[in-house]
Amino acid sequence: MNILGLDEFNVIEGYDSEQYYKFVVEAKEPPTFCTKCGTTVELDENGDFVTHVFKRKDWRPRTVADLDLRGKKVVIQVNQKRFFCPYCGGDFTEYFNSVARNDKVTVRLWKRMGEESVSVKNTFKSVAEQYGISDTTVKKAFWEHVDRLYEDSVLIAPKVLGIDEVYLHEEGFERKQPFAVFTDIEKKEIIEFVQDNSKENVIRIIKSMKGYENIEAVTMDMNSGYRHAVKETIPKAFCVVDHFHVIQKANMKLNEIRAKIQSKLPEGDKKELFKCRCKITSNREKLPEEALYELDTVLEKYPKLQTAYRIKEGLRDVYKQEKKYDAYQMYHKWEESIPKDAKEMKGIQRMINRLKNEVFAYFDGNFTNAYTESINNVIKRAVRLGVGYSFEVLRAKVLFGTKATEIKKVKEMNFRRIFNSLTMQYEDVECAESYTEKYSYRVNIDRLFDELEQGEF
Ligand SMILES: [Zn+2]
Repeated sequence: MNILGLDEFNVIEGYDSEQYYKFVVEAKEPPTFCTKCGTTVELDENGDFVTHVFKRKDWRPRTVADLDLRGKKVVIQVNQKRFFCPYCGGDFTEYFNSVARNDKVTVRLWKRMGEESVSVKNTFKSVAEQYGISDTTVKKAFWEHVDRLYEDSVLIAPKVLGIDEVYLHEEGFERKQPFAVFTDIEKKEIIEFVQDNSKENVIRIIKSMKGYENIEAVTMDMNSGYRHAVKETIPKAFCVVDHFHVIQKANMKLNEIRAKIQSKLPEGDKKELFKCRCKITSNREKLPEEALYELDTVLEKYPKLQTAYRIKEGLRDVYKQEKKYDAYQMYHKWEESIPKDAKEMKGIQRMINRLKNEVFAYFDGNFTNAYTESINNVIKRAVRLGVGYSFEVLRAKVLFGTKATEIKKVKEMNFRRIFNSLTMQYEDVECAESYTEKYSYRVNIDRLFDELEQGEF
């Protein structure tokens, strides 16, 4: 094994400059086939050439980028030879397994760029800058990686399906447009993300899921037409309006009331009320005592907002019940507690009553809602980072760049790979004959330790 871990090459020289490492390499073995006509030369049972049919002509240096080494960029100069082929009478250049055929990068860097550019944490630009490669090359690596992921993925129907929507800016539209997000509620994964959230399209997506007939429940928000799509395609599944969406609606109303009052206030009071906006929509028991005192003092000044706030917290009490029966009891008490003039909150009550079965179905099973919010956050972060993403890029990032479970698996594999190579490198250092050879193994060991340090295993 050489310092780079690229078995087909011999490292002839190595330079260590301030900014980067440079290695000069050449192929260990002569070529076994002509890249022009495809003729393969014969080998005997020992792997030796029966005849050396390709005649060496000249060579040219070719520079490619590789994975970073100890935080420094790596440049490899491959001395690529040209050969004459007696079969087609033409000249051809050597083929390398570890170098991308048409780009100035190694295959492993190409793969790494594909994986990294898919993550919602990175942009094309950030990956390009990290490796000193053009955006265009990163984009090509991204699509090759994504195409492979799409090929390997089958949309399997979850037991509990979540249908949600996010509003995002889309080219050509002044207002934000709704996108439908489909999730596996139990596995906490986004399984599909589409541009058009019409009933027809939602039906099409549900039907494209393998085993969709077995979906047991579908969670959704309050004012969606998704319910009708579900009733038509999977009539046996029950629809659930989850906790998160009910409270979200109440909080939206609270915000409206607050904004309306705020707009009519003098500057100082305006600021004070605005500063409270997050406390108002937070769960009361989560606020520290000091914040609670501040909030109550401000609310005291605005009775209408104070009443609406109490109604929101009262609705949350319904969700503190474990049994459906108790929840119903609590709900009726809540209904009675709403004063006639609390128009906005009466609206919420009407909305819940229209969807009573769906809202109280929440108490029939344990339908977690914790993920709904984080899914929205993941998508929004991807959008913020990559303004100007096409929908197709965003979709791939959301589908393949957000799965926490997958990343864990890769980490585990990495750890084993690094550990095994480390053991091997240590043996190599022991056996190394020259100082240069020893040094090259040392650098490799450092690289592996760096990788170990950077990973959160
Ligand atoms: Zn040929």
